[in-house]
Amino acid sequence: MKTIGVLTSGGDSPGMNAAIRAVVRTALQNNIRVVGIQRGYSGLINGEITELTRDSVSDIIQRGGTILKTARSNTFRTEEGRRRAADVLKVFGVEGLVVVGGDGSFMGAKLLSDLGVATIGLPGTIDNDLAYTDYTIGFDTALNTVIDAVNKLKDTSSSHERASVVEVMGRNCGDIALYSGLAGGAESIILPEKPFDMDELCRGILEGKMRGKLHNLIMVAEGVGKAEEIAKKIEDITGIEARVTKLGHIQRGGSPTVADRVLATRMGYRAVELLREGKSARVVGIKNNKIIDLDITEALAIESKFDEDLFKIAETISY
Ligand code: ATP
Repeated sequence: MKTIGVLTSGGDSPGMNAAIRAVVRTALQNNIRVVGIQRGYSGLINGEITELTRDSVSDIIQRGGTILKTARSNTFRTEEGRRRAADVLKVFGVEGLVVVGGDGSFMGAKLLSDLGVATIGLPGTIDNDLAYTDYTIGFDTALNTVIDAVNKLKDTSSSHERASVVEVMGRNCGDIALYSGLAGGAESIILPEKPFDMDELCRGILEGKMRGKLHNLIMVAEGVGKAEEIAKKIEDITGIEARVTKLGHIQRGGSPTVADRVLATRMGYRAVELLREGKSARVVGIKNNKIIDLDITEALAIESKFDEDLFKIAETISY
């Protein structure tokens, strides 16, 4: 393989730059040319392609976001769009492509590999919503951002003896709420994966009040979609003032943590190794602290990896 490309696609996540850097440096060490494709599949179709050198990726490992920018492309969802993308890659002599993104981006990578381009996917998403891997690039940084906000919220809600209902990202996967709820000492964690009992929550809050508890933290995953409703019920039933804070896109930013930088670097390195071995349509992940790779279709077919044990621990120690 003489030339490979790298792009970032879908929602950005901290650590994408570390992945790009690892791909570029590993490839160059192996005498493979690397091009960077701007704005995901959209930029690919438009031919937004430039050569990346060792220096193009210096001083980026500590930066959040992605130097290649990211986008969503409806044209790429059509067969014609994907053919154009494959033609553009051919014109630039790109034989292999590393795609850093989520499940949608992986689906696109699989379809592109059917058109003869070798593709490898790296999981870049803060949600940790890809079941084939224990962790995705950006998840750890997002958790630390949430915890930073939660620590601050606890100060003010303790002073006012309020309840804080904190909505965090996670449409179908409640991992951000689960891990940050556990690490932030939440009284309750409400997730798409688990039914939840409002009466039990209010009972816990009232019992806590009797014991002299000053604050209550309730973590809610965005996918549950009920933060305001939950806050109102808490106020109605317990008489304790409840405020909703939605952390929103703040969770996507920030300098990546050590864990995310190391994960992204290990994964970027593996992606280039796979391309050198002539592999295609595979995704890279981490299982039990070992970097793994598997077929994209098989990886996307794995449904849920919800950590029941962790949820049980969080429930046991919450009140
Ligand atoms: P995240 O969910 O973390 O934001 P993602 O990769 O799942 O990341 P999507 O918006 O679903 O984000 O996908 C990114 C891009 O991948 C889309 O804009 C589209 O160009 C391409 N894509 C997604 N799904 C498909 C599909 N089924 N077929 C072809 N291309 C797809």
